Amino acid sequence: MLPARCAGCGEGAGQLCPACRALLTCAAAGPAGPEPPPDGLPPVHAATPYGGPVRNLLIAHKERGALRLARPLGSALAAAVRSADAAGAPGAPGAPLLLVPVPSTRRSVRERGHDPALRLARAAARELRRAGRPARVAPVLRHARRVADQAGLSAAERHRNLHGALTVRPRTVALLHGRPVVLVDDLVTTGASLAEAARALRAAGCPPRAAATVAATARRAASIGLGR
Ligand SMILES: [Zn+2]
Repeated sequence: MLPARCAGCGEGAGQLCPACRALLTCAAAGPAGPEPPPDGLPPVHAATPYGGPVRNLLIAHKERGALRLARPLGSALAAAVRSADAAGAPGAPGAPLLLVPVPSTRRSVRERGHDPALRLARAAARELRRAGRPARVAPVLRHARRVADQAGLSAAERHRNLHGALTVRPRTVALLHGRPVVLVDDLVTTGASLAEAARALRAAGCPPRAAATVAATARRAASIGLGR
């Protein structure tokens, strides 16, 4: 059964009304992320600022199991990946992009019933391939230890909470070497999770060339779509 109201605006018909869909498909992806960035954060590109209907759509997908939103949100993520890829250091032309999602904790996967960033990464990779850019998802990161809930922590506390929290699964390191790696997540706020994910990849000898998210909360989100 279709939900009566749009998950973005609460008014339009269907799970995603045309106006909210347009917010995702017409988004102008560009550089985003916190200012100043945390140490080790690669260049971050986002499809759209976080707020209003976009915020509601990401929450509906992440927390309320609105899984059919993965495709439109994944298309927006694909636009951010393209933007990040275009701005990154030159790599082997045509080499398949590896999208590495920031992993959820096992506990939140259990509570939500899915891993939102992994699902969006898969949808983005499908969209990139449809558009002729070879891409695949490499879910190579895992938690090396338990972390506290990030909600309510300051940027410095988030950094301390997360430092050393992620690691690359040893048997997947060979998969990454020499490949263009783009970290992906649904949202960038302080950049602490992406910076930790980048640290773990660098420690394994596979530095990511960039990071891409559907949305960005930080102050620089205001610059998305400008100057490009
Ligand atoms: Zn709507």
